[in-house]
Amino acid sequence: MLATVLHHPAPATGGPLDLARVADPEPGPGELLVRVSACAVCRTDLQLCEGDLPARRLPIIPGHQVVGVVEALGPAVAGTTGAGVAGPGGAAPAVGTRVGLTWLAGTCGHCRFCVRGDENLCEAARFTGWDRDGGYAELVVARAGFAHRLPDGPADADLAPLLCGGVIGWRALKVCGVQPGQRLGLFGFGASASIVIQVAVHRGCEVYVCTRSERERVLAIELGATWAGDFAERPPELLDAAITTAPVGDAIVHALAALDRGGVVAVNAIHLDRVPEFPYDLLWWERQVRSVANVTRADAREFLAVAAEIPVVTRHEQRPLDEAGEALVDLAAGRVEGSVVLIP
Ligand SMILES: [Zn+2]
Ligand SMILES: [Zn+2]
Repeated sequence: MLATVLHHPAPATGGPLDLARVADPEPGPGELLVRVSACAVCRTDLQLCEGDLPARRLPIIPGHQVVGVVEALGPAVAGTTGAGVAGPGGAAPAVGTRVGLTWLAGTCGHCRFCVRGDENLCEAARFTGWDRDGGYAELVVARAGFAHRLPDGPADADLAPLLCGGVIGWRALKVCGVQPGQRLGLFGFGASASIVIQVAVHRGCEVYVCTRSERERVLAIELGATWAGDFAERPPELLDAAITTAPVGDAIVHALAALDRGGVVAVNAIHLDRVPEFPYDLLWWERQVRSVANVTRADAREFLAVAAEIPVVTRHEQRPLDEAGEALVDLAAGRVEGSVVLIP
């Protein structure tokens, strides 16, 4: 098959990805072989390719927002033709089913975190495109219980950007605890935040957006933001909750400074440069800072249902698989509107 492979992390402009013909992967016990139809590019892919996120395995095929069709079942996978749901207790998707793969590729299922429903914290968790080869390829193998059946209707390329940015954005909304009708701040306005705002506005929240990009501020207002400004500006009202997605620790301090008493800042970043020192007064009055780590399968199921109901719209440009490297360069340079979706 054709795949885009990371051998040695390097700056995106140095071309760390190689397009190569590699052996077709074979599904092992409990696994599915999926023919990839679309794979959206995530900022985490860029951080992995550039080495900001240390590689867990090299070479690796990146990509963890994968839409495809089940082409074969490995041994000991009970496929059905019914409408069961992938995941604990559910039937595995049958051959021919359209599925989505997310960042969470596998968990142990029996540690203290897994048994209490926090499988995103599993110490043995495995991740798509980090521990296991991902979707920058024509074929990918996934654990059957971690492949999500996708709703009928939306095109493959429309669904792919939902599978990380959308699902982790949904988790961030839960972590920050914002309730319908409350004020939510979004600090950074990339692919994930442009999905989160649609869910928050749908739930009757007032959304305040801080981003350096004038273009993103315009988009935020189009998507229903009450106010949009620069990081240096303070939103005109105190916020009940905030989500930071900007890849800089300063955003956390800006968010805290805009927060009402008892508010929560959810930090949605797998890698941050640092958290700057800040006066304790910003944290006083029971304000909280929480990180958002990975996702659970329940997050994915819940969000895919919500996204279909609203419906959430993603902006994306489609590019052939062999332009994955250029896509990373554009993402690093801030030239991507919404998401890039790679089509093998
Ligand atoms: Zn576990
Ligand atoms: Zn991601």
